[in-house]
This record gives sequence, structure tokens and C-alpha cells, in this order.
Amino acid sequence: MSHNKNYKFGTKAIHAGLEPDPSTGAIMTPIFQTSTFVQESPGTHKGFAYARGKNPTRMALEKNIAALENGKYCLCFSSGMGAIDAIIKLLNPGDEVITGDDLYGGSYRMFDKVFARFGIKFHFINLSNPANITAYINQKTKLIWLETPTNPTMQIIDIEGVCEIAKQKNITVAVDNTFASPYLQNPLKLGADIVMHSVTKYLGGHSDVIMGALITNSEKLYTDLAFIHNSCGATPGPMDSFLVLRGIKTLHLRMERHCYNGKIIATFLKNHPKIEKVYWPGFEDHTNHLIAKKQMNDFGGMISIVLKNHTKEQTFKIASSFNVFSLAESLGGVESLINHPVTMTHASIPKEERDKAGVVDNLLRLSVGVEDVEDLLEDLKQVLG
Ligand SMILES: *Cc1c(COP(=O)(O)O)cnc(C)c1O
Repeated sequence: MSHNKNYKFGTKAIHAGLEPDPSTGAIMTPIFQTSTFVQESPGTHKGFAYARGKNPTRMALEKNIAALENGKYCLCFSSGMGAIDAIIKLLNPGDEVITGDDLYGGSYRMFDKVFARFGIKFHFINLSNPANITAYINQKTKLIWLETPTNPTMQIIDIEGVCEIAKQKNITVAVDNTFASPYLQNPLKLGADIVMHSVTKYLGGHSDVIMGALITNSEKLYTDLAFIHNSCGATPGPMDSFLVLRGIKTLHLRMERHCYNGKIIATFLKNHPKIEKVYWPGFEDHTNHLIAKKQMNDFGGMISIVLKNHTKEQTFKIASSFNVFSLAESLGGVESLINHPVTMTHASIPKEERDKAGVVDNLLRLSVGVEDVEDLLEDLKQVLG
């Protein structure tokens, strides 16, 4: 495929970064299961020396993901957390970070329990209005870390609005784009400096790989991040890179179905008498629906619900009674999952912080998969009545 053309998303998902293997013509990129590369004389390698630094399977995947996010550069990591870790390692002791109050539990834990010990200060604030940031900006502010839609209450943060404020102060903006996937949202186009993905979720899409990725258009950020990537070593293996390359080939098809099923299920839940609240950015009465409409191509299949007058125990019973939805952490795979954030994904966040963000005992998060929606509706009806 010629790479200098501006192909559309589905074509890029299938072809970007991939060339037939020069030694055989194999259409699929081989799994280069090797740790090192032979040199003819010292220092004369063909671009590959040692596989922590570069591996051809991983490189094909990095080119592919960069294309999907309209970025020049991509680095893949052995997990989403490994990718976030590399971004925070751009900072120095004394630096400050502004971030949201409704974050992926693991991100909160890393910031609060690991990097705070290294003298980096994190402000966890409500970002639903970009202007809220202004009060927290000072000389030491070096990074704004955003997640949108947020996890699990599906707040929408105005990426462009935040970037405008950050740009005036020379502050780097990084966006965790895991929930939207590159199919629904491209933060670099909206002014962000770095996009992060837990590739484990929609990009991989088949619940069989743990991986992370960072994408940027800045040569300086890429160079600094690549140095940390190679120096600190959270790099993924070639087999996992291959699985993700394969998974991404259907990303656009899967996302279409996630969005289709998501809309039908969100609407069903909104009208159900046992549900007090449904968090889904596609509803017109969602606080930042218009921003979602502006910055996303569709609204996705992630939905959170609050059960009306249910105790924690009653909520547990509901969460454990599904036939098609599986009770499990994670999201973005072909299978539908249900999750109880308070005891599962968000258990590492103190109750006080959780309550502030609306992550209550009777909240459940659904990752709507790509099964037949009739079967998913049937499953919800047999549980909710
Ligand atoms: C899963 C997830 C992560 C962490 O990624 P891993 O691949 O599990 O390390 C970070 N952010 C969000 C929004 C996630 O859903």
C-alpha cells in the first residue's frame, strides 16, 4: 500500500504500516520472535540491534496505530500503565500535574501512590468545564492529564478547550483515549500533545493481550519518550504485537457495532423503572452532550447505570446474574462485560474520592460487546425484570 495517500479509517486500519515481507511476500507481518539481530561487523546492523529497542513486528504495529491517530510517531508498551508511567517520567521532582477527579483506578493509584513519593504533585479536579484548570496553574505545572469519556461516569471533557488554555502556558496535554478508541476521537487533531491508549481494550479488541501505546506529532516528545521506553524497558513482545495488528483490522467494524448496540441498550436502560440514572454521552440531557457531538464521531458502547434504591448486596446479586454479559474487569472486547467499579476497577480509590465522583455502591459499568443486541436486551430483561 502506498503510504503517502490520505486513506480513510477502515483502509488505514487494515493496511497502514504494513508491507509484504520482503523475503517471502507474506501479506501478514511475521512474528519476529527474536531478541537480537546479527551484525556483519560491529555497528553495521540493518536498523535493528536488540529487540527492546526495536522489533519489526512491533514497528509495523506502531506505524499502524500512529496512522489511526493521525500522528507521526507511536511507541507501544507492555501495558497501558507502562505507557502512562513513561509520560510521568518526563517530569522532575517538584513538577505539578492537573488531572481529573474521575480517572481509571490504576492511573489514580500510580499518581497517588507511586509518583507522589517522587515529589510530583497531582491536582485531581473536576474538568467538566476547562476554565476550572486556571486556578490550579502555576510555574510548576508541566502536564495536564485527561481521560474522556471518563471512567466510569462518562463525563465528557472539552479537549480543544483544555488545550487552548494549556497552550498559552506551554503545558503539555496528554489524553487517555482508551474509552473512545481512535475510531471515535483523535485528540491530536484537537490540540493534544500526546495520546495514550490501553491497547488491551478496543484496539486489541479480543481480550487476549495486555498492551499500551503513546502517539505524538512532536519529534521532541517522541525522542524523550523513546529514550524512556528503551531505558526503562516496558516494551511488548512480537507475539502480542502480531495479535494487536490482527485485532485492529476489524476495529472500524467492531466500533460500528459497539456504537449501534450501545445506543439501543442505553435507551432501553434509560426507560427502565429499576434504573435511577444512565451515564452515556449520546443522550441529549448529558451535561456535555454537545461537546461529545463535536469531538467524537459517535458515542460508543460504554454505559454506566445507577440502580434505584439498591444496596451494595442487591447490586452484587444483579451483577452476578447475567448469562451473556460476563462479570469481569476490562472493556472494549468483543464480549459484553459488566463491572462493579467500587469493588473491582476502582477499589484502589478512597471512598471519599469515589463518592465525590459519583462512583457509588449501586453503580454498574457495562462494556457492550458486538453480540446480537436482541440477546443482550433479553439478558438485561431476565436480570432486571
Ligand atoms: C485499562 C485502562 C488503563 C490501563 O491499561 P492496561 O493495559 O490495563 O495497563 C488505563 N486507562 C484506561 C482508561 C483503561 O481503561
